[in-house]
Amino acid sequence: DLLVVGSANADLVIGVDRRPGAGETVLGSDLAVHPGGKGANQAVAAARLGARTALLARVGDDDYGRLLLDSQATAGVDTAGVLVGGAPTGVALITVDPSGDNSIVVSQGANARLTPGDVRAAAGLLAAARVVSLQLEIPLETVAEVVRAAGAGFGGRPGPRVVLNPSPTAPLPTDVLAACDPLVVNEHEARFLLSDAPVGSSDDPEEWADALLSRGPRSVVVTLGAEGALVADGDRTVLVPSPAVTAVDTTGAGDAFTGALAWRLGVGDDLPTAVRFAVRVGAAAVTRAGAQASFPSAGEVAAL
Ligand code: ADP
Repeated sequence: DLLVVGSANADLVIGVDRRPGAGETVLGSDLAVHPGGKGANQAVAAARLGARTALLARVGDDDYGRLLLDSQATAGVDTAGVLVGGAPTGVALITVDPSGDNSIVVSQGANARLTPGDVRAAAGLLAAARVVSLQLEIPLETVAEVVRAAGAGFGGRPGPRVVLNPSPTAPLPTDVLAACDPLVVNEHEARFLLSDAPVGSSDDPEEWADALLSRGPRSVVVTLGAEGALVADGDRTVLVPSPAVTAVDTTGAGDAFTGALAWRLGVGDDLPTAVRFAVRVGAAAVTRAGAQASFPSAGEVAAL
């Protein structure tokens, strides 16, 4: 049902009392190594909820690459589309402070070698998917090729619906923006995409959602952390509140949200219904440490 095209990284995580400034060293906790990357995270989040999920990604022929393949397979993700080699596996250096907020530096490695040609060679995966979920930790031309192939369809059948989380932020080509249904952004990403307009400095997320919608996507979702998420589909803009939880570690919350959202759209939910499910998944994910390790099963979402 769901194809995720995106990054797979090893997350190297250290807890800190506070972040170092330029030229400064701080001491942190023992190192923890976890499977991560926005693409890999979204695929695991969806599969753990019970989604039929495939991942198109590239990892290195190294221990981190094998860690990532193992974690995908354990979650039940179809890894036939995960390509191996060409560069070291991508790595994310993550610090987590006592309030649960994170700061991240990414070395793209093999993710930067996932090419438009790799997408064309994986046409069967795209043709089989109802929804394809994308982020920007792979080359933009690769994302654009997925959008083009999805828009062209397969043998007269429509291609998959496109969900895009434009993270890390980058200017988006008009055709990519126009294909998004929805474009999923957090506050930072919304402000970045609107930074050329006065509304980018507004403090009203409803104004961001409406302004983003006028840039061409078919629908927009703005995630608002503990507040939940705003849904704008052109007919109306509604706030879907998040359940109140105690945040331990927000790493991967947006990925869990988007993976869950994309899956629910693929099985036929309308956008507000899918978002009502996804905020519960995002909320469950912040109650535990780590990215993939924090993602809930369907039973845990129901119990929230
Ligand atoms: P990102 O992780 O990309 O910055 P957000 O912080 O907006 O994105 O979080 C994504 C989703 O995760 C939110 O829409 C919400 O459902 C859930 N979430 C995040 N933080 C919290 C929190 N403190 N309490 C409850 N839900 C949260």
